[in-house]
Amino acid sequence: MIDISTYEIWLVTGSQHLYGPETLKNVARHAEEIAKSLDGQNSILPQVKYKGVVKSPEETFEMAQNANRENKCIGLIFWMHTFSPAKMWIRALKTLQKPILHFHTQYNAEIPWSSIDMDFMNENQSAHGGREFGFMATSMNVGRKVVVGHWQNAQSIERIAVWSRVAAGWHALQNTKVARIGDNMREVAVTEGNKVEAQMKFGFSVNGYSINDLEQHVDGVSDAAVDTLVKEYKDSYKVVQGDSVLSALQDAAKIELGMRSFLTDGGFTAYTDTFENLGGLKQLPGIATQRLMADGYGFGAEGDWKTAAMLHSAKVMEQGLSGGTSFMEDYTYDFRDGRSRVLGSHMLEICPSIASGDVRCEVHPLGIGGKEDPVRLVFDVDAGPAINASLIDLGGRYRLIVNEVDAVAPDQELPKLPVARVLWDPKPNLEIAAQTWILAGGAHHTVFSKAIGTEYMEDFAEMAGIELVVIDEQTRTRDFKEKLRWNQVYYHLFES
Ligand code: MN
Repeated sequence: MIDISTYEIWLVTGSQHLYGPETLKNVARHAEEIAKSLDGQNSILPQVKYKGVVKSPEETFEMAQNANRENKCIGLIFWMHTFSPAKMWIRALKTLQKPILHFHTQYNAEIPWSSIDMDFMNENQSAHGGREFGFMATSMNVGRKVVVGHWQNAQSIERIAVWSRVAAGWHALQNTKVARIGDNMREVAVTEGNKVEAQMKFGFSVNGYSINDLEQHVDGVSDAAVDTLVKEYKDSYKVVQGDSVLSALQDAAKIELGMRSFLTDGGFTAYTDTFENLGGLKQLPGIATQRLMADGYGFGAEGDWKTAAMLHSAKVMEQGLSGGTSFMEDYTYDFRDGRSRVLGSHMLEICPSIASGDVRCEVHPLGIGGKEDPVRLVFDVDAGPAINASLIDLGGRYRLIVNEVDAVAPDQELPKLPVARVLWDPKPNLEIAAQTWILAGGAHHTVFSKAIGTEYMEDFAEMAGIELVVIDEQTRTRDFKEKLRWNQVYYHLFES
């Protein structure tokens, strides 16, 4: 898994020669201080590097070229300390291929009432310098995040921290190879899509592999390695005892080791499989996929490569945060007067990063696929805020749908349910949430996260240049339907 702290965010400050060298010296000093301050924030994982003051079209263009060339640079923060005439940014903004955050801040926090003079005013004029830059970026339809606030303000810092994590997730996608093992669950629609279009839009590639390609790696696993991993299972989880458990654990361990070898060998950081194309594998990978997700791999069941890629990206974003992120499926409802809820789960593949309490290792029949009983980790999930995010291909363009939810503790034990599960109360309520989700075409598969929230997905959609629709406390169905229609017109006019 990539270490985000090895990446760099560049802080570039816009100014001009008009104010003389003395002012420019102060501008540079202030910018360097702000870069250092941001770099010192624990919440901002990448390094924040001061990259100078740009004052001309030549300097902005050179900066953009350098940023494109530097692989460690995952995004740029622009700050207009003084007025920075924005025509000088045109060529740079046309050239730049990295995510942008426009930090609309000011070195000085409060107005120095008794001493303020015109020199102070000329030096501290981001209030209008930032607007000039904003006009240019908007005219050029350049996607970016705008953060407004003093640079020492906790909220400003947090918004930059979120964006920097998303930039890392975005950067990771540019190098993500998704292995689609065994293609798609037959006749299923939402897991399909245009893989060429996806690579152009998001950077990740998706290529198909036969189950034989995986089986070769599984066959190559040694008995000693299997024994070691079975011991790790027993040490890490509460293994439910039974006659056939040991051989099931051995088969599962062999599959996990084979999958790790296949993924490492091919340089894959995300994959899909499907229970309909398992070839000679003895079980549908359950515990293997659960543990691979916990290590940062993206996964989508039944050939769902979009969710697999999104999950990997989210795993990069959430590095070091608590709460966890998993592949998820809306499984069954708890309809009741007043407050209906969703029980989310999958046949097997829920990531233990979201687990609370004991994680049990169990062996049960699957009921579909006709294979031997797969090993899986079974657990519950703590209460707390979370999101479900779904990326769909509408044929020619993508839509990202996010529903804010509250995970809640189940009313009772679920002694007979042999899968990991989470109960949630969607915002604003299940009736409106499911109505609008369905109207938006949201999939049954999602990325479920307690670590990253809606703002991450908003920043992601901005970087990718795709539509985002959010279902939250404020959502009303009639307004939402209109928004979908307006967006359809917008994307038809401007993005196709
Ligand atoms: Mn599914």
